[in-house]
Amino acid sequence: MKVGFIGAGNMGNPMATNLIKAGHQLVVHDLRREAATNLLEMGATWANTPAETASSGSEIIFTSLPFPRDIEAVVLGEDGILEGAETGSIYVDLSTSSPISIRHIHQVCQEKGVMVLDAPVSGGVHRAADGSLTVMVGGDEAVFNRIKPTLHGIGSHVVYCGPVGNGMVCKICNNLVSMGVGSLLAEALTLGVRAGADLAVLADVIATSSGSCARLTEKFSQFLFKGNFEPGFATSLAAKDIRLATDLGRELGLPMEVSNIVDQQHVEALFRGWGPEDSDAVVKLQEEKAGVQLRIPGI
Ligand code: NAD
Repeated sequence: MKVGFIGAGNMGNPMATNLIKAGHQLVVHDLRREAATNLLEMGATWANTPAETASSGSEIIFTSLPFPRDIEAVVLGEDGILEGAETGSIYVDLSTSSPISIRHIHQVCQEKGVMVLDAPVSGGVHRAADGSLTVMVGGDEAVFNRIKPTLHGIGSHVVYCGPVGNGMVCKICNNLVSMGVGSLLAEALTLGVRAGADLAVLADVIATSSGSCARLTEKFSQFLFKGNFEPGFATSLAAKDIRLATDLGRELGLPMEVSNIVDQQHVEALFRGWGPEDSDAVVKLQEEKAGVQLRIPGI
């Protein structure tokens, strides 16, 4: 199948790679052409604009972009997907974005006969590379069933979440847990080390006990404990995700005290200039307070 792909960054690039490996003919666009070099070498075709990506016969057009404003511009803006998309084509957003924004995009696209699904993903860059992401899909169920086999090229766990926007809702709730647990882990691990525990031993005990979680076993082990703050998943994106959650809470009038503390920790991390670093950088705030660095030599 001919597939358009816009946004070949940390997540988009491995997902696009897996779509090519699954036998799809890829048309790719990114603000930075160099981000797509490996995809072009694998046989993908370059498009100069989102409109060109959509108009080159793509049955499905994917985006994997940073912020809701980027997605709205790429879909609805000048030279955007909607300008190029043919009636009957399907636009799928793999980014983590606002449910309100994707529902608006859906409404506008529907008038031109372009179908919209939200399909945010979870699992980080490593699971994007091995094709084992969780994909959370919102939108028309019949459209979902049509493209499910293609989505299986990206993720091993493809879940239908309900009407358009519900994929984003599920993803935002998941990331809220991941960010919140990250803050609690930072306190627990600095506490343990200050109280005399060896960090490697403490991390092993928690990883094999009731406190175990992916933030510890899959994320801290790859980033924080190694002192590796190359993104992965940038702090600016984590701050965006936690704000999507607290904004949604405000929209619904729902008190979310802990979430708003975690939100402000991410605001402070951005203020410190850590936006481009991996999202584990937020832990440095607690490390400073505790006078402890959570690094495991040789991990
Ligand atoms: P990234 O910054 O690495 O990649 C984004 C890409 O989009 C870049 O290559 C950038 O040049 C391109 N881009 C930005 N604006 C553009 C525009 N207007 N037109 C064309 N290209 C544009 O980000 P990422 O980490 O790959 O994340 C992408 C999305 O996936 C985000 O919404 C993020 O929250 C979500 N996500 C990320 C992870 C992760 O671990 N990194 C995991 C799950 C979900």
